[in-house]
Amino acid sequence: MICPKCELEYVDGVTVCPDCNTDLVTKEEFEGNLLHPKDWVVVYSCDNAVEADMLKSNLKGADIEAIILNQSDSSFPAVGDLRGVKVLVKDTDAQDALAIINDINSRS
Ligand SMILES: [Zn+2]
Repeated sequence: MICPKCELEYVDGVTVCPDCNTDLVTKEEFEGNLLHPKDWVVVYSCDNAVEADMLKSNLKGADIEAIILNQSDSSFPAVGDLRGVKVLVKDTDAQDALAIINDINSRS
């Protein structure tokens, strides 16, 4: 569950944000409805959802929260004009995320 206001993730079972008392939403709801798209940056873009998913897992392993946006979603926010599937991370995690992505790509 995620607080749409703080954009923080909470464990299942928590339904209200302890910080701001906002009702939490599911991850699926949140991903299509970023309230602060400026806080997120696109670190990777491809046309393969499986590849994006794999990258997300790698980032999660490094404690970086990543979300995947698919342009086919009707609620897709206007983040640049790249096509296909995008992997986004928080602005503050962008440098670390890019380092991980470069590392992965240089190995493959
Ligand atoms: Zn909150």
